[in-house]
Amino acid sequence: MSALADYIRHAERHGVDGVHEVARRDLAADDLAMLERRLRELEPKWRPPRAGTAQDGTRAAGPVVRHPSESKTRACPFCGSSLAGYRRHARVCRRASCRKRAQRQVR
Ligand SMILES: [Zn+2]
Repeated sequence: MSALADYIRHAERHGVDGVHEVARRDLAADDLAMLERRLRELEPKWRPPRAGTAQDGTRAAGPVVRHPSESKTRACPFCGSSLAGYRRHARVCRRASCRKRAQRQVR
């Protein structure tokens, strides 16, 4: 039995109050998302508290697809060199040819 199932069972038996507050310190992001979905089924008015979690950048709706594991090992899409050590939002390496190509893509 996973911790996720325990939290869901607790919410089903005792209500959703306080379950998320504890679970968010305990569960991995994937499990927490699943728990949030279940809590909303149990209590449609319930909303996950988002204050202080803006860091993860996840949104319930929207086309944002981000894989945290990938963002750590980014590579220049043009020459394939690693972007480790580059600024967080850097999308290409410093080579002039790559930067030019990136600028052409970005409107
Ligand atoms: Zn490059």
